[in-house]
Amino acid sequence: MSTPSPVTTLTGLTAAELPGAPELAPRFPLTPNPAPASAADLDAVMGHLAFGVAHTDHMARARWTPEGGWHDRRTEAYGTLTLSPAAAVLHYGQEIFEGLKAYRHADGSVWTFRPGFNAARFNASGRRLAMPELPEEDFVASLAALVAADDRWVPGVEGSSLYLRPFMFASEAFLGVRSAHEFEYLVIASPVGPYFVNGFEPVAIWVAQDYHRVGPGGMGAAKTGGNYAASLLPQHEAYDKGFEQVCFLDAVTGTHLEELGGMNVFVVDADGTVRTPALSGTILEGGTRAAILQLLRDQGRAVREEDIDLAGLLEQLRSGKVAEVFACGTAAVITPIGRLAGEGFDVTVADGRPGATTTELYTALTDIHYGRREDPHDWMYRLV
Ligand SMILES: *Cc1c(COP(=O)(O)O)cnc(C)c1O
Repeated sequence: MSTPSPVTTLTGLTAAELPGAPELAPRFPLTPNPAPASAADLDAVMGHLAFGVAHTDHMARARWTPEGGWHDRRTEAYGTLTLSPAAAVLHYGQEIFEGLKAYRHADGSVWTFRPGFNAARFNASGRRLAMPELPEEDFVASLAALVAADDRWVPGVEGSSLYLRPFMFASEAFLGVRSAHEFEYLVIASPVGPYFVNGFEPVAIWVAQDYHRVGPGGMGAAKTGGNYAASLLPQHEAYDKGFEQVCFLDAVTGTHLEELGGMNVFVVDADGTVRTPALSGTILEGGTRAAILQLLRDQGRAVREEDIDLAGLLEQLRSGKVAEVFACGTAAVITPIGRLAGEGFDVTVADGRPGATTTELYTALTDIHYGRREDPHDWMYRLV
């Protein structure tokens, strides 16, 4: 059968190719929030960091119309949006998003990881959903403007960060089915604590055999809310069975692993080879995935991007040929998988403990994020 979706490997502008944040931020001029959070409110938030609960004082935004292109770029008080009930996004789901983090380094400066990659991915997602592209420099400028305005919301505690959520949606009030003629782009931010509250702990994964999140020619390679909507019921059912996350299989044969609802997946063989599903058009190309592949290649490790057959993997886990399985994404960076189960099987991975390669990669990536280790690929971009 043919493969209709093109496989892309995103690059985007490197930190060295991008203008500095002080040069870019003024593209989204700031109107300061007249009623910012008080020092006491801020202390209360920082004292109990949770994912996506508290939002900062500001948001960056811009509008797109066919006549004006992108315009009205600004940074203003965080607040509710006014939207027509006929706004296309509410009916047809024309929406894309991104997720990045701003990390506070020991010297007080604030950095983010490969924003050019996320900018390029945002545009790739936009193309699939027939949405206008945002120049990569504008994408990075919006992050620079927001983090400069909300610098005090970037936590400094070990393992914490400011989560950045850029998104775009069809705001045009029109019920006809076609790509909208009006779009809103926004960036909001939320301070987050370390993902693993009880340390680096393996999770239990349910492999869905009766649901798929995407199919060939669908939106699997785009970061869009619709793919998440498709994953919520399987996620809920897995949770009820006592599992933390779902791993989806390819929709054509139902035989090989694709990814979790919002994380890519890796397998480490006992001989040290590392494998991850190839970008087939039905997998979202993660920035964490790309960085892990690069770090492993830098070390001369054997790395393979190929189909990972579920039946084969279960056999290799039982025989000890596969030593580690982990998932990765910006939110948790790396999540060790300690148990893989589905209809008719239930296998413990590496005695349910994080493996050596999983732990090394986690340390390497987080050390780069927090400026504790050299950054040979120019991944970190200074925001403040
Ligand atoms: C965002 C996302 C990932 C992880 O991408 P990162 O760039 O590493 O954060 C993986 N899978 C899906 C479906 C995603 O939406």
